[in-house]
Amino acid sequence: MSDSAQNHHELIIIGSGPAGLTAAIYAARAELKPLVIEGLQAGGQLMQTTEIENYPGFPQGLQGPELMINFRDQAERFGTTFLTDDVDTVDLEATPKVIKVGKTTYTADAVIVSTGATARMIGLESEQKLLGHGVSTCATCDGYFFRDKELLVVGGGDSAMEEATFLTKFATKVTIIHRRDEYRASKIMLDRARANEKVEFIEWAAVTEVLDDDTGAMTGAILTDTRDGSTRRIDAQGLFVAIGHDPNTLLFTDQLDMDENGYLITKAPGTQTNIDGVFACGDVQDHTYRQAITAAGSGCAAALDAERWLAAVQAAGPVETLTGATLIDDAVVTT
Ligand code: NAP
Repeated sequence: MSDSAQNHHELIIIGSGPAGLTAAIYAARAELKPLVIEGLQAGGQLMQTTEIENYPGFPQGLQGPELMINFRDQAERFGTTFLTDDVDTVDLEATPKVIKVGKTTYTADAVIVSTGATARMIGLESEQKLLGHGVSTCATCDGYFFRDKELLVVGGGDSAMEEATFLTKFATKVTIIHRRDEYRASKIMLDRARANEKVEFIEWAAVTEVLDDDTGAMTGAILTDTRDGSTRRIDAQGLFVAIGHDPNTLLFTDQLDMDENGYLITKAPGTQTNIDGVFACGDVQDHTYRQAITAAGSGCAAALDAERWLAAVQAAGPVETLTGATLIDDAVVTT
């Protein structure tokens, strides 16, 4: 078989978090033999998470990486192949669609984009060291582990307000640390946090070091005044970094429609993007829910959408002969 035939797939999935791997499980079981280009840091955000207690079906909970290995094994069992590399460029308008990885060119009839989003971090070595061990980027995921603790939340947007308010269910005290005295948060969210007697605010401050003890447990943080540079120590057993997320969409600039924050736009209620045969699922198109289970659900939807689209296109004739095939409901219209 020639290289070009070998590198052609009916479906290529870019990204390997819960969305991409769920898409792979469904697509593989539909005999689409998907290729997952999983990235050099495969597995997505859950690879940096410790205990997961809210993924249905695991009543005792499990570790994030363990869950992702299970997803991957399940996808592999039904015939998914994996490429552990990063995609360099894509041409999604082409027929077939072109994906370049280093010197190798892959082509696909349909593509599912599930490249996720990356939580912004403060950028401290101590923050990285304690990530998953006191430092978290997701209150919904980890709040439960901080019962009766004193917590810090960094940020001044809606996420910080929402996370701080949510964390008061568990914590004895939550201190929001913000680098100035104006907030991006909406008035209603800010007022709600302000009205909560467990929430305190420290303004004009940045966390410049996260502290831990000999056992690796977080004990507090050093705050630096953003006006005069003076420092102080604050005690806390957990730090939630809520300074926003960046969707991983740079690769798709000028090809896929995005909102003002760079999230891919899909046509509700499905996962179809503005380009026929290109579907998006998971956090790359969802800045609202951002949960493993919602990402997995949208991955399933993307695989079903891709499967239906491929079936409709194939029923209409060989993909190469179509120019600008458009799926309208179940029918394919060629232009
Ligand atoms: P955001 O609105 O971009 O706010 C990020 C916050 O983090 C800002 O206050 C920013 O400070 C601060 N920040 C950024 N980098 C920082 C750094 N290196 N160190 C310290 N602080 C830093 O992000 P978001 O709160 O995640 O919200 C994103 C979008 O989702 C928004 O549109 C928001 O309305 C929406 N959202 C909605 C809800 C809801 O309605 N339930 C909940 C969550 C999010 P500066 O202001 O000084 O730049």
